Amino acid sequence: MKVFKFGGASVNNAEAVRNVAEILKKFRGEKILVVVSAMGKTTNALEEICQAYFNKSIQTKTLLDKVMHYHFKIIDNLFDDKNHEVYYDIQQIFDELLHKLISRASENYDFEYDQIVSNGELISTKIISHYLNLKGFQNQWLDAREIIKTDTSYREGNVNWQECMHKTNHLVIPFFEVKNPNGFLMITQGFIGSTPDGHTITLGREGSDYSAAIFAYNLAASEMIIWKDVPGLLNADPKYYDDTHKLDAISYREAIELAYYGATIIHPKTIKPLQNKNIPLYVKSFLHPENEGSIISNHENSDGLIPSFIFKQNQTLLSISPKDFSFIAEENLSDIFAIFSENKIKINLMQNSAISFSVCFDENAIYFGSLIKSLQKNYQVRYNLHLDLITIRHYDQQTINKVTANRKVLLEQRSRTTAQMIVENTLLQN
Ligand code: ASP
Ligand code: MG
Repeated sequence: MKVFKFGGASVNNAEAVRNVAEILKKFRGEKILVVVSAMGKTTNALEEICQAYFNKSIQTKTLLDKVMHYHFKIIDNLFDDKNHEVYYDIQQIFDELLHKLISRASENYDFEYDQIVSNGELISTKIISHYLNLKGFQNQWLDAREIIKTDTSYREGNVNWQECMHKTNHLVIPFFEVKNPNGFLMITQGFIGSTPDGHTITLGREGSDYSAAIFAYNLAASEMIIWKDVPGLLNADPKYYDDTHKLDAISYREAIELAYYGATIIHPKTIKPLQNKNIPLYVKSFLHPENEGSIISNHENSDGLIPSFIFKQNQTLLSISPKDFSFIAEENLSDIFAIFSENKIKINLMQNSAISFSVCFDENAIYFGSLIKSLQKNYQVRYNLHLDLITIRHYDQQTINKVTANRKVLLEQRSRTTAQMIVENTLLQN
């Protein structure tokens, strides 16, 4: 059994949906569970709607109409029969959403967010499932909320693995095991799940990869494939580097490291479940499905072949020193870490000297002020804003020189395999 994941860019218009069918054609007769994200930038649009709803903005309905129009345009293009059930199904989702948006919001923003934003995946999978059925790819639509059970941490649901396994065994496995006259294709949503009392929850932005990995784990899949708009895993983000190379094969360990340092190609939680069951993960191009792509597995031999570059913008570098010039010792550190954790700030890099401790983290408007206030009670605090953090895996001096050319380096750290530099975001004048 295989698990496929199609992201937003792979289903962002009617042509793209047709292409998904073309890809599935090559796997006819196999047992495949297909996890799909919301179409194109729908999640962003729904986030905006949620914000408007919460602010009681008169724009809310207009924003919703835009999302509705976008989807019906795709449906119109895919379905000739204007009485097809898909029209009814999607209209119903939008009617319910509108109903929600004219009711009063509760105090809990994260809860409301999940009730609204989760619709993107419900809509995309309904459309795709109907379309595939129409084209002779008999499939079963599955409500992921029946399987992906979590706690109540809205917007970042923590998976209850035991429950998920139990639900998979009862609701998914039988479909694949019993000789199924309707074929062996199941279509389900990424990103969403449900709480113990049955409310919809999301797993965090870009969480569809993670959903696919949860299904792959529970189904003990033979492989998982993420279909993307790039040829595979690249050693750098083409947004920032023009000279990128494909990583043909890397280990789970390397993939986790890359995600940890901020490579955005795969959601960071995705690798662990796959590693635990030794399920290979392929990243392939949905534009050139015949090409090799990349493989992530337990083989470590190719890890160091090509250096990888990870670029994080909008970083703050903050240095903390005790007011009385005393040493930074264990007690200070545990105090400092507690303050960071209370303010929900994740540390990207840290370094200490005798009397100061430096920390680099993403600029975070909400809690930054409160962090500074708490630290200033006992420490002297200085900081620089708008910096870039560059990480190179498998670096050499030449690669370091390349990324730091004409840049002022504020802090540098090297381990055997990883070099990190915090640099100013403007180029130095010669
Ligand atoms: N649609 C969600 C998002 O854009 C989940 C995903 O695409 O992975 O964040
Ligand atoms: Mg996405």
